[in-house]
Amino acid sequence: MIAAGQALRRRIILAVILLAAFIVLLRVAVLADEFDTVITAASFEAARENRTALRAFLHRMPKGGDLHTHLAGAVYAERFIAWAAQQELCVDPQKVVVAKPQCDRAGALPVSDAMHDQQLYNWLVDAFSMRAFLPTSAVPTGHDEFFAAFDKFGAVSGTHLVDMTIDQLRRYDSENVQYVEFMVSSWCADDRARFVKAISETTEDAAKLKTLEASGLGDCVAARRNVLTAAIGKIRSALACDAPKAQPGCGVTFRYIIQVNRNNLPDEVFVQTAIAAALIRAEPRVVALNFVGPEDGLVARRDYTRHMQIIRFLAPDVPVALHAGELWLGLVPPPDLAFHIREAIEIAGARRIGHGVALAFERDMEGLLAEMRARPVVVEVNLTSTDLILGVRGKDHPLPTYLAAGVPVVLSSDDAGISRIDLTNEYLRAARDYGLEYRALKAIARNALIYSFLDQAQKRDELARFDRASAEFERSVASRQSPLQNAVALIKAAVTSPP
Ligand SMILES: [Zn+2]
Repeated sequence: MIAAGQALRRRIILAVILLAAFIVLLRVAVLADEFDTVITAASFEAARENRTALRAFLHRMPKGGDLHTHLAGAVYAERFIAWAAQQELCVDPQKVVVAKPQCDRAGALPVSDAMHDQQLYNWLVDAFSMRAFLPTSAVPTGHDEFFAAFDKFGAVSGTHLVDMTIDQLRRYDSENVQYVEFMVSSWCADDRARFVKAISETTEDAAKLKTLEASGLGDCVAARRNVLTAAIGKIRSALACDAPKAQPGCGVTFRYIIQVNRNNLPDEVFVQTAIAAALIRAEPRVVALNFVGPEDGLVARRDYTRHMQIIRFLAPDVPVALHAGELWLGLVPPPDLAFHIREAIEIAGARRIGHGVALAFERDMEGLLAEMRARPVVVEVNLTSTDLILGVRGKDHPLPTYLAAGVPVVLSSDDAGISRIDLTNEYLRAARDYGLEYRALKAIARNALIYSFLDQAQKRDELARFDRASAEFERSVASRQSPLQNAVALIKAAVTSPP
């Protein structure tokens, strides 16, 4: 009896082992179909605790696109210093670059001095970026230092659209990023005051737009379009894009988004938005508009809903991305935290939300998440910038909540030059701080093309290009390991990954 019982037990154990082996084999067969992806995901996990290997992996990994980058904020201070020196500009004691005629002001120094004065050079790099930032009573927060940087190098960035774009295209190429939408300011400076004055005499939006059109909106937009077209021509020829030996940056597809400064009076915002919307309709390489500037600013807060209505009225037919919810408790009173993301979506029709950090403070967060998933509305997550500006990082950031709710997410750089980062760094943070796996990061990279503002045919082409680049990347990762290592990784994946 005892012997028979033991035999039965052995048979049962054997059957269980055989069944388990069969299931694993079945999983191996299924996973072998996506062999390179499985091996790449396994390599990524193996590198997770080795930050050097992880960063190198993420640098090589195709990252699709960057959908949230302010062109002037993306350029490193060192470039601005070199350009300002070439133009013989000066810097005043407040570390603001000033035009030539102001060089004889008290305390002003030629920027070119920095080229042989390391101390001055360091001082300027620190002033134009978040490098070595320490709070002082004059500049008590990263928020203030960050936003102040734009004005400090504004005299240089304002005249270097072509150089800045070329600089960035080369950077993105070196980081395996194939597509970018640069946020730039573009308005008719000479007509601005006249336009604002003209529309201020009417009250209805329709009358304002009519007045603006009668005051020469069309001419202004045509002139802006010519400036942009000429700049794009110069960029392409500087990189020899039409020559047989095109330079690397040519492989990066780019578009522009027009930014409107939200800390202006309503009629000024109206004019800027009308120009942006008309330019998007006229020029296919200008794909959307966005509202920028501190969302916690006095005017931005007071006029928030009015701004959303202006966008709804002037730009119902053009793509809109909006900075919304770039706020946190303490920065503004609680009521201001409760509606910005929702109004950007429901009133202004934003298809993309920049930052979306204040999610938890929104009224009916669950309902908002469901709406974002259903529409869909994508969130442009800028981890480093949010850390530096708002002090929100790690578990306080809503990235995991967006992902868990099925809201599409992209990782973007915001102002890589001011933050002294690159896009790879944001992928590293996502992997390091939120445990995102290779497949999740790859889906996020692909989202940057899916939720780009390219037209359908262009999007299809860019997605096909991304899929080819990803397949090539994964093949190269898999081929670096021995067949035995790959076989072990495959079996391990079959045992551990969910079916
Ligand atoms: Zn931004």
